[in-house]
Order: sequence, then structure tokens, then C-alpha cells
Amino acid sequence: MYCQICNSKLIYYKWYDNHLFPKSANGIIKKLLPWFDFLIPDKFQILKKFSKANIFKGKVIVCKECGYGTMETPPTQEAIKKYYEYNYWQNFRERNVKPTTHGDVYDYLQDLRAGSQIFLVNSQFDLKNIMRTLEIGAGPAFASQLLRNRFKNISMYVCEPGTSWDRYYQMRGLHRIANFFPFDTNETFDYIHTSHWLEHVLDLRKTIYALYNVLNDGGCLFVEVPNTPEIYWELPIGDTPHIHFFTVQSLKAIFEEYHFSCHYIDIFGTRLGKTTQKPSYEQDSVTEGVWIRAIFHKPNQKHTR
Ligand SMILES: [Zn+2]
Repeated sequence: MYCQICNSKLIYYKWYDNHLFPKSANGIIKKLLPWFDFLIPDKFQILKKFSKANIFKGKVIVCKECGYGTMETPPTQEAIKKYYEYNYWQNFRERNVKPTTHGDVYDYLQDLRAGSQIFLVNSQFDLKNIMRTLEIGAGPAFASQLLRNRFKNISMYVCEPGTSWDRYYQMRGLHRIANFFPFDTNETFDYIHTSHWLEHVLDLRKTIYALYNVLNDGGCLFVEVPNTPEIYWELPIGDTPHIHFFTVQSLKAIFEEYHFSCHYIDIFGTRLGKTTQKPSYEQDSVTEGVWIRAIFHKPNQKHTR
């Protein structure tokens, strides 16, 4: 067995259960729910989300050199699709945006995470030529809407499973292009935004290859993923089922292998393991923040005669 990113043979195994089911009342309930899945009505979507999460279990293979981790036996693509289509977003949408009542048309301005992501991209990358954007695992696509606030004429595409967002997207001028990435298309984009999505994909290499192919030359890709350095494995941090676990070193390495150039990468957010009522969205490279934010760039191709 070796690391799928850096090929190192220095690997160790960690049980993922500490993260799926942290040692708390909440964790115990999450652990018991799968046994009662058949009793839980579909309308209790939050419970359903946890009662079906036991498809993500077992050991994670972690690399001692670059820090990358991946599930030893991830669920099948079929099971993953079913999980996200069935449970994942519906409750979130109900809580956060209310398309049926037209909601607050400026809802995207109040989202601190999307706001700080787009602030970072704007300050680090010259976006003035962007015309077409793609947000993957978009939910309400707040990041895209923030970009449009500044670049009025951009066309915004989103990739998101299910039809529950369709009315909202229609109202906001967002085009839902597919349920899952990669998808068959001739379209290409100048800017791609992914926030807390990459850690959920099954085939990481296929995904990064496809990202490169749909990004235009000179284009920009934003990636935010959870930061999982060594200390993460010792902490009972509950997280949504993840298949990949990144460090700055491993995230940068895998994108560079696919010819992206790393324009910016750093650690953000509240320190790992520190519970706080008010999450921080600030850069926190000195300590061990909970997220990695990266901006990758697709260099202009050199044309030779
Ligand atoms: Zn490695």
C-alpha cells in the first residue's frame, strides 16, 4: 500500500468512526440511527442524513509524508449519488433560503463564508476577463452571485444534484448545467468555484483531470476543503462523510501533477478542535485552522508553429 498522491510507502491507518460519530450525545445518536433507518420516515431529513451515513465507514489510509488520507473502502458511486440526491441538501435549503417566498434577494451578501472566499479570490487574482463561471456543489451559489455583483455580465452555471434548487436558480439567473461533476459538455469556464466539495468525490484524479479540461486557458479555480493535518486524526471532530483528507502539501501536489499552477494556498478558520460559538473566517496559517483555501491557475498554452 502506498500514498496515492506522493507514492510514499510510509502510511498508517485511522478509523474514521471518531469523526463520523464523535464521543458526545450527538455522536452516540448518530451511531445508533443507522439501525433504525427503516423506522425513520423520509420527511425527517436530518435524521435520514445520519441514518444513511454509515455507507462511509471503516479505515482511512493516511500518508506520513504528504498527509493525504483516503478511505480504504469508499462506498460505490451508485451509493454516493443516492446519498446526496436523497438526503443532503433539502433540509439545508429550507433553513437558509426560501425561494417560495422570494426570500431575501441579498441573501448572498450575508453569507460570511462565501463573502470571505470571494474577497480572497478578488484580492489575489485578476478576474477582470471572466465571462463564464461554474460553481460545483453549489447549493445556493452565493459565491457566484457575489462575483456577479461585481462583474455584471458573467454567465453563471451551477452543478448540483436534484431539482430542489431549480426555482431559486431561475429567479437568480443561475443555470443548472448538471447534477454531478464530471459531466459531458462542450462548455468551458473562466472561473470555477468549489467549496467543501472535493473531499466528497469518489475518483479524485478523474475529477481533477476533468476540472482542467473545462477550465479555459488563463482561468482560475478556487478550492476550499477541510484541513486534516496529523492532529485532526486525534480529535473527535464530527464531519460530514468525506472520502479524501487533505493537507496543504498534498492538495498542492495533486493539482500540480495535473498541470495547474498554484497561485495561492493557505490555512483558514478556527483552530482545529477549538469549539467556538462564532466561527472565524480569517486566515490562520500560524495555527491549525479547519480549512485550506487554494487558488489554482491554468496557465495560457504556449502556441508553437
Ligand atoms: Zn503522500
